[in-house]
Amino acid sequence: MKRVYRIPMKLPFRGVTERSGVLVRGPAGWGEFSPFPGYEPAVASIWLRAAREASTEPWPQPLRESIPVNVTVPALSAEQAHALVRDSGCTTAKVKVAQGDDEARLEAVRDALGPTGKIRIDVNGAWDLDTAAGRIRSLERYDLEYVEQPVATLAEMAALRKRVNVPLAVDESLRSLDDPRAVRDSEAADLIVLKVQPLGGVRPALQIAEIVGLPAVVSSALETSVGIAAGVALAAALPELPYACGLATVALLNGDVVADPLIPVNGSLEVRRPNVDEAALEGFELHGAQARPLVARMEAATAATP
Ligand SMILES: [Mg+2]
Repeated sequence: MKRVYRIPMKLPFRGVTERSGVLVRGPAGWGEFSPFPGYEPAVASIWLRAAREASTEPWPQPLRESIPVNVTVPALSAEQAHALVRDSGCTTAKVKVAQGDDEARLEAVRDALGPTGKIRIDVNGAWDLDTAAGRIRSLERYDLEYVEQPVATLAEMAALRKRVNVPLAVDESLRSLDDPRAVRDSEAADLIVLKVQPLGGVRPALQIAEIVGLPAVVSSALETSVGIAAGVALAAALPELPYACGLATVALLNGDVVADPLIPVNGSLEVRRPNVDEAALEGFELHGAQARPLVARMEAATAATP
């Protein structure tokens, strides 16, 4: 069974103003296929593998019952960032930087979290090497837990890591590697960010974590609670989980397709798998001509599957 949906973002995130995709149901439950617009079918086919896994195979054995999560702060104004963090109940915040007034945003987040809260920043590869070294040294005063993908390539990360004291996390670069061992061998990162859909499923992501041998943080790709549940399953199955995960992003959407969304309580998500709810889906479901482009994307991804 396939259901097509589109949900506007409550808070635009990196230029994304809505999320759309296809929910597929199989013997194991619901899976979500929601690649970002413009992805080539070959890339989307990796995302499709994750939806297939979710709908056909049970999750690996969970090792924990709840997952600590961070509040994700888009490139908001200081006031908006403060309110978002304050209302989240989380003690860790991931803050997007390299856009707008980073200092004002970080100042506000630090104030909302208090001195014991943890702040990590995500650069999405926007800085060049020298800019990254300078900016990280300057932003260190906000007591950064780590910096996510400060520069675009693994080679630059390895060079940067010799110049700064803050731990570095690799995110986007991990997906472009033929062999994840390169992360370890290049000494480019202190930890890795795992995302279920871009890595082709919970099991492939677990395998990558094992091969790389560094601590892992599980983050979302701005999914509905159906896709978030796969991230939760991954975080629950990782042998070690030393950091809060970036899975509290349902709050960035203006709705959900389940009746009991995966929203954190006291900074943690329960390890569970909500089902698609007809009443919740109703306001966001696409039919006929509106649904067709998304179905076509899934068909193109299927055709591109090796
Ligand atoms: Mg990231």
